[in-house]
Amino acid sequence: MPRLFPYSPAGWVRLAVGLACAGSAGAAEVPAGDAKAAVTARVDAEFPALEAIFHHLHANPELSFQEFETAALVAKELRALGLEVTEKVGNTGVVGVLRNGPGPTVLLRADMDGLPVKERTGLPWASRAVVRDLAGREQPAMHACGHDLHVTGLIGAARVLAAERSRWSGTLVCVAQPAEEIVAGARAMLRDGLYTRFPRPDFALALHVSSSRQAGEIGYVDGTPYASVSSVDIVVRGVGGHGSQPHTAKDPILLAAQIITALQGIVSREVKPGTPAVVTVGTIQGGTKRNIIPDEVRLELTLRSFDQKVMAQLVAAIRRICAGTAAAAGVPEDRLPVVTVSPESAPVTTNDSALVQRLAGVFRTWFGPERVTAASPSTGAEDFAEYGRTQPAVPIFIWSVGAADPVRYAAAARGGPSAPANHSPEAVFVADPTLRTSVASLAAAVLELAPRR
Ligand code: ZN
Ligand code: ZN
Repeated sequence: MPRLFPYSPAGWVRLAVGLACAGSAGAAEVPAGDAKAAVTARVDAEFPALEAIFHHLHANPELSFQEFETAALVAKELRALGLEVTEKVGNTGVVGVLRNGPGPTVLLRADMDGLPVKERTGLPWASRAVVRDLAGREQPAMHACGHDLHVTGLIGAARVLAAERSRWSGTLVCVAQPAEEIVAGARAMLRDGLYTRFPRPDFALALHVSSSRQAGEIGYVDGTPYASVSSVDIVVRGVGGHGSQPHTAKDPILLAAQIITALQGIVSREVKPGTPAVVTVGTIQGGTKRNIIPDEVRLELTLRSFDQKVMAQLVAAIRRICAGTAAAAGVPEDRLPVVTVSPESAPVTTNDSALVQRLAGVFRTWFGPERVTAASPSTGAEDFAEYGRTQPAVPIFIWSVGAADPVRYAAAARGGPSAPANHSPEAVFVADPTLRTSVASLAAAVLELAPRR
């Protein structure tokens, strides 16, 4: 049974009138059941300022582990609310802690990085930024995944929860995480003591906006919302030689072609039918001239699965096929293919079922059942998965908030082209009501999980 908001027992709590000074003189007495009304009024009051922050962040995206200005903005905002703020956690991450009496610790996470995409939305606040990536290369950049809305939503939730601190009791941990797009930031923050230097969460929450879901709608998955991703690199090594004398060489181009063909049999012949799995060879590079048999060919693969055992099966099959195909071609033992699973990998994201049911019930009460629906899992991946995989495990829940431009969404619903998805240079994320829903859902979740008793 989902536990519905408002929290019990019913009673009266104080509603602060200041923006960040709950319990101040002049606070009005309102029923505890009016928490939704109080939060909604607070969100409405904050909206213009939050929209301005969103436009600023959108026009000034930064790439993975380069989120210096974004992190500084988050730190300044959280400090202004009285949170204990620590910067440079896991490289460019920011942690803000608000201790508000006894009770559970709830972590809210927003990712900060943009993507190396040249924006083509034509919006007045569109990005024209050209910035350096981690490798020092100049790249056009865009918040094509909506992480600017996540950061703004986190700031909004912190403002609302600081102002409404009389309505909840516990500890709030606000996390601005770097480098989600290369699935490295969560690990970096956890390795840098996110769960040991700061209060360890009883619950970890996040949301992700979608440019193809109707703005303001909430979607949730009771199970695995995001697949795991493994990035695999293969170096197919041969013995180079003259193109006219293949008998003196071991041709890695032919070998790579045979390996790529054999890889197609993993999902179709080895994985149990009905089990989702993806093996995609995304790049192939080898050779310099038509009459030269090269020494090696390089392949880059992305793998997706919803089950770590299946992912392990995919990787093991790739290793076996590479070694076996090369051996069958007579490649010497010391020139067999090198298969590497790169760090750009993330485990499957698994929402805690009890937490999903509890908060989905809260969201239905707050936003109406028609705006809160069960969604299908995505073969995208999220490093938010890492927050729930520590020992002992922390229950996590990431939900989706629609951000699609209403005009384009309505046209798509009438059979027109679908609204451009996240990562598209034409992806449009509308602030209203996306930000209102984001901030209110985060605040509602904290009020539910850390009630004042
Ligand atoms: Zn993304
Ligand atoms: Zn994203």
